[in-house]
Amino acid sequence: MKILVINAGSSSLKYQLIDMKDESVIAKGLCERISIDGSVLTHKANGKEYVFKKDMPNHTVAIKMVLDALVSPECGVLKSMDEISAVGHRVVHSAEDFTSSVLINDEVLKICEKNSELAPLHNPANVMGIRACQEVMPKTPMVAVFDTAFHSSMPDYAYLYGIKYSDYKNYRIRRYGFHGTSHMFVSSEAARYMKKDIKDLKIITCHLGNGSSITAVDGGKSVDTSMGFTPLEGVPMGTRSGNIDAAVIEYLMQKKGQTISQVMNYLNKECGVYGISENSSDFRDLMSDEKFNGQNKLAVDSFAYNVKKYVGAYAAAMNGVDCIVFTAGVGENDPYIRSAVAGNLQYMGVNFDEDANKNFKRGQICEISKKSSKVKFWLYRPMKNWLSQERLGGLQNKLNFRLTKKTLFCIMLNVSR
Ligand code: AMP
Repeated sequence: MKILVINAGSSSLKYQLIDMKDESVIAKGLCERISIDGSVLTHKANGKEYVFKKDMPNHTVAIKMVLDALVSPECGVLKSMDEISAVGHRVVHSAEDFTSSVLINDEVLKICEKNSELAPLHNPANVMGIRACQEVMPKTPMVAVFDTAFHSSMPDYAYLYGIKYSDYKNYRIRRYGFHGTSHMFVSSEAARYMKKDIKDLKIITCHLGNGSSITAVDGGKSVDTSMGFTPLEGVPMGTRSGNIDAAVIEYLMQKKGQTISQVMNYLNKECGVYGISENSSDFRDLMSDEKFNGQNKLAVDSFAYNVKKYVGAYAAAMNGVDCIVFTAGVGENDPYIRSAVAGNLQYMGVNFDEDANKNFKRGQICEISKKSSKVKFWLYRPMKNWLSQERLGGLQNKLNFRLTKKTLFCIMLNVSR
């Protein structure tokens, strides 16, 4: 049985095709810069890497390119789409509609669409990914796995905002948190590499990518996280502002003569490191040697400073921290940002290893703190063992239970980052 797992993100689309017989990855790849100039599909199969540079104005075009690659005579691994038994889709926001993964039907899709108002950069992309797949594989069962599920363990004092309690009750306005599959997975992997029971560990996971969030994981459970009601809260991100005084919204509306939706669109799509740099939302663009100065550097430094503040806050929230993990595009690839976040946390018992940080080889899980460090730093770049039991967490049971009737065994993978 072969399972295709898809993560349609705001400007990227990751996929893996897995043979469930031996849990091997048959093909995987990444569409980058969707709806931005210079879109590219990197497809890995048969021990080779194929690069297709072609305009991807939206996710439907991207997914069609992926499916074409999977069956293509040159770089494909399938005779036809019928070989795919099920598709797992990452869906970002489930609000309080779903607390676990579900088999996708029309009603589920409608609810995911309805929740687009809570995650305007993500749910529409996720739904586009699902619809595009359904178009090509109308009979293949598909499962939605939600980013919010891992954070359902947050205590009420952490997820409540300082607003009227009745508004929380009536309108379900609260912190939900996102990137749940990533935080769950990298925290359990860190515990495994530390050879400790996760129940005995306090871990801070830093998922730093185009969207970024930081989570406090105490005893294996999310107890606080930086994203909130929507993925707009937290640190400044690729294009999202992150935390901002709510009074700025009215002020901007008055100053610019804009509507509330124009300002919300601005906060979601024109701010963050893109807004500060007034150049690019992509950290690689900002940090290329000759450009890494002025507003570009300011944007990156502000990002790292805000991440660091969460690290401090979550160490306080958990009364300590045993381990800090970096993951996602920026967290895995960028030594400058890791060093800016972790380089001078000596007061917390951190002894950061700058050499290990710089010399990290891609494709490894790597310790980037010195042996003497009380707090361990890990860098997680998933390549091998990606289908470990730890990663599956409670999800596996839920999915098994739900899908055995359909003789399906569908697992959400780390591609859902
Ligand atoms: P993600 O959302 O996890 O796919 O991460 C996307 C972000 O990671 C983009 O801002 C990229 O610029 C950034 N990124 C990817 N590779 C690198 C790299 N080698 N150095 C710095 N940033 C990177």
